[in-house]
Amino acid sequence: MKIHNFNAGPSILPKEVVKKSAQSVINFNDTGLSVLEISHRSMDFLEIIEKTTFLIKRMMGLNEDYAVLFLQGGATLQFSMIPYNLMYKKAAYLDTGFWAYNAIKEAKKFGVVKVLFSGKNINYTSIEKDYHIPCNMDYFHCTSNNTIVGTQMKIFPKTSTPIVCDMSSDIFSRKLDFCQFSLIYASAQKNIGSAGMTIVIIKKEILGKNKKNIPSYMDYKIHIQNNSILNTPNVFSIYTSMLTLEWIENQGGLFVLEKKNQHKAKLLYNEIDKNSLFENKIHEENRSNMNVSFFLKNKDLEKEFNKIWKKENIVGLDGHRYLGGYRASIYNALPLESVQFLIEIMKEFERKFS
Ligand SMILES: *Cc1c(COP(=O)(O)O)cnc(C)c1O
Repeated sequence: MKIHNFNAGPSILPKEVVKKSAQSVINFNDTGLSVLEISHRSMDFLEIIEKTTFLIKRMMGLNEDYAVLFLQGGATLQFSMIPYNLMYKKAAYLDTGFWAYNAIKEAKKFGVVKVLFSGKNINYTSIEKDYHIPCNMDYFHCTSNNTIVGTQMKIFPKTSTPIVCDMSSDIFSRKLDFCQFSLIYASAQKNIGSAGMTIVIIKKEILGKNKKNIPSYMDYKIHIQNNSILNTPNVFSIYTSMLTLEWIENQGGLFVLEKKNQHKAKLLYNEIDKNSLFENKIHEENRSNMNVSFFLKNKDLEKEFNKIWKKENIVGLDGHRYLGGYRASIYNALPLESVQFLIEIMKEFERKFS
């Protein structure tokens, strides 16, 4: 039975990745052991960490100035780990969505937060481009893709202030100049691998200026010194992430995936715009290529629409509990056919109910 998985996270993974992970749970690399049973200090696992780091850096074009960490606590822990390590006095933030707002809330516990733009009173439907980053900021924090409302930053500011970016829901979905960022973080469960691990990519020169006494697990420097095995990491999630990175390379890399993602998103937005029953509320320039949110203009039809897509083996289309409506998460691994299938369902629904 074909299932069309539009879940926002944990979300769809490439079929090959799921298959290979499943095999490795039974017998990892012909060791006779499960990947769940190997030591995180074994050669087998060190090879996984090394390979994953190598693939990330190659894909993003990052040199030895950058360190790659595999941490736990989700992107959520990064909301406080970032200011703990990088904030001396003040930092600038963009409030572009619910996750960005949460990041700001945590940062305020560590110092002064200057919010350069807030989309809160316009329900986060667009992202301001013209904001000024004052020169005395320790860093500038932004969220490249706002998973819940469905907006995406298409350009990033030119600034000498270190840019810190939450890429949880669009990492590895497009080609960017990744060297413009001083810190990138993303939890695995959206576009990378199984849940339970967060990738943090840091330009090492931004560390070490803070003389605060930071608890060990919260200290990036200590994780770098320990090659991400200060304590037991999420072995399985790192392994599934490595498999996904290999899959991305086999697909042709970030540029090829970006084109595919743009195509999928364009088809779906076109249908939403054309279809008389649905609407998308996001400013066109800021529409996300990863999370497409839409609403029925007539809420009374929701019951009918829900019945139909659920019957057709579409899953994960419900909007976030804060927003209602619908959200199709169309991450890297979601095949074009699933988008086309959803579009057919929407067309059929229009024929019946308009
Ligand atoms: C999902 C998400 C988070 C939270 O991730 P956790 O791993 O659950 O902590 C943070 N930021 C963005 C942009 C997200 O999409």
